[in-house]
Amino acid sequence: MSVLKELLEGNERFVTGSNEFPRLNRERRLEGLYGQSPKAIVVGCADSRVPPEHIFDQGLGDLFVLRVAGNILDEAVIGSIEYAVDNLETPLLMVLSHTNCGAVGAAIDMPVEEAAGSLKYLIEYIKPAVEKVKGMSGDFQDNVTKENARLVVENLKNQGQIISKAYQNKKLKIVAAYYDLETGLVSTL
Ligand SMILES: [Zn+2]
Repeated sequence: MSVLKELLEGNERFVTGSNEFPRLNRERRLEGLYGQSPKAIVVGCADSRVPPEHIFDQGLGDLFVLRVAGNILDEAVIGSIEYAVDNLETPLLMVLSHTNCGAVGAAIDMPVEEAAGSLKYLIEYIKPAVEKVKGMSGDFQDNVTKENARLVVENLKNQGQIISKAYQNKKLKIVAAYYDLETGLVSTL
């Protein structure tokens, strides 16, 4: 079974309340003493309502997770992904966006120069998605959220030596996804 399918099946268990809470026992913990072999890398939002292990019903050692507001990239995030791609040979990289994202909302409402502190970095990063979907039909914030996830994926496909090469050699699949807080459902974009 493909890793993506495995994650989406875990999400279906989460949505329908038939979670298995797999691989969270002592035995699995001790397996981790000998290393890790996560099945997927997830770049998700720091939002407390979107923990990847829970929404995909996964256990210890299953997901290599980077969480940052607005599921965006910086050098530390990219370096961490490179580690997983290069050293752990993780075959799937998912950028996981979600409904009602506060970082996306701030990027829509706030001019970059009004953002306080390092919040500026987040808003500046998401702004191109805000500009790109202007005039598009449908819910504006949803459109920005999805476009931002797609732009992050495009950025990753062209990122540095390690990630872009693994992608081109088909050793790494990169997908954008969208989580609905209300239904609990993850859909790929
Ligand atoms: Zn968010």
